[in-house]
Amino acid sequence: MRDLSFLYMVTSSIHRLTRVEEVLRFLVNEVTRALNAEIGIVYTLDTASKRLLPVVSRGLRKGEDEKLAVKVDDSAVGRAFEEGRIINAVVGESDFHPTLDGMEVNSLLCVPVKGRKNILGVLELCRLHPLKFSLDEERLVTVAAGQAAIAMENIQNLEELEKTVRELKAVDELKNNLLANVSHELRTPITIAKGALELAMDEKNVKKRNGLLKMAVNALVRQNFIVGDLIEAANLERSKSELKMEEVNLVQLITLVSDEFKPMLIKDKIKMKISIENCLPPVRADNKQLKHVLRNLISNAIKFNKEGGEIIIEARERGNMVEVCVSDTGIGIPEDRLDKIFERFYQVDSSPSRRYGGTGLGLAIVKETVEAHGGRITVESKLGKGSRFCFTLPAARKEE
Ligand code: ADP
Repeated sequence: MRDLSFLYMVTSSIHRLTRVEEVLRFLVNEVTRALNAEIGIVYTLDTASKRLLPVVSRGLRKGEDEKLAVKVDDSAVGRAFEEGRIINAVVGESDFHPTLDGMEVNSLLCVPVKGRKNILGVLELCRLHPLKFSLDEERLVTVAAGQAAIAMENIQNLEELEKTVRELKAVDELKNNLLANVSHELRTPITIAKGALELAMDEKNVKKRNGLLKMAVNALVRQNFIVGDLIEAANLERSKSELKMEEVNLVQLITLVSDEFKPMLIKDKIKMKISIENCLPPVRADNKQLKHVLRNLISNAIKFNKEGGEIIIEARERGNMVEVCVSDTGIGIPEDRLDKIFERFYQVDSSPSRRYGGTGLGLAIVKETVEAHGGRITVESKLGKGSRFCFTLPAARKEE
């Protein structure tokens, strides 16, 4: 009877409590009082230190609980957790291993808090007088430990749910930013081309008119580049068989692509150095796709650089691969974003107020292309100091 009324009182009160600590505190208070114990503690496992730490307690001296960190293999609490069994012992019995120094505990009861899959913690009750806890009392504490388990698991579920909601919100924000960013990226060249063409229509001076027409063409080329990236990204699972493999001379390719960026380098006062190992073997690659990879890495190295910064392009042989690295002295990438930047549409700053343009597709396409060639891409970066992207490609073997 005592079990049932206690259970009823506990469950009906728990309904009104929302935080796990409140539930556990309520349980410890009630059960300690009901059993005339002086001390009640709920421990949970701290996975990092592999120790049981008290989450709530009653009857401890101030600051006492801070000193309590129970080794899982030590003491009655540790064994109740490790072995998943109730330990009920008074001073003098072999199971009597109290955790509290200097508190003159003479009777203890440790009940594992069993979750659906594993043991979540231990509920410990201590008495100063050597009166052993009865079987009835053991059962009562087991009921309380069951309630504690439900509260702990519910809060775990709630935390997981909150995490999922946070992730979904981030995806939603990404989607909204993406729509805004892509529309902005597509509209900018249209605005430039439209303005240049309108001016060209009224321009009598042939040289000036040609300049305006060139401006319109460049804007449309840029737009074509963006649309090309969007189409590629929609269809990223490109198979190796779609690549038109040939022997590519990297010295020629790097020189050709880096020359395309000269006007941008001059505008941003950025120096570019090229360092290619002597006798570098050609690589087996799709020439067009490889150009796209280099263009993307170089254009990022310029875009995220600082005025007066530097870019180094290096190429060297590494075993049966050739490694190409593009380093810059730009803004760098936070360490926790390094693996994210290769995801489609990911941008370290994708907010509407962001400083750098782009769709967040370039690196996803670069990674996919390099891997389709049988290579790998890596990145190292120091925030505020710069980034270094390196990719490998199979060297073309001599007999081929
Ligand atoms: P985009 O440049 O269009 O934003 P990318 O896929 O090329 O898209 O790059 C994704 C993100 O990775 C960029 O928005 C930027 O935050 C980061 N990033 C890429 N390259 C660099 C770089 N060289 N320096 C600093 N950040 C970079």
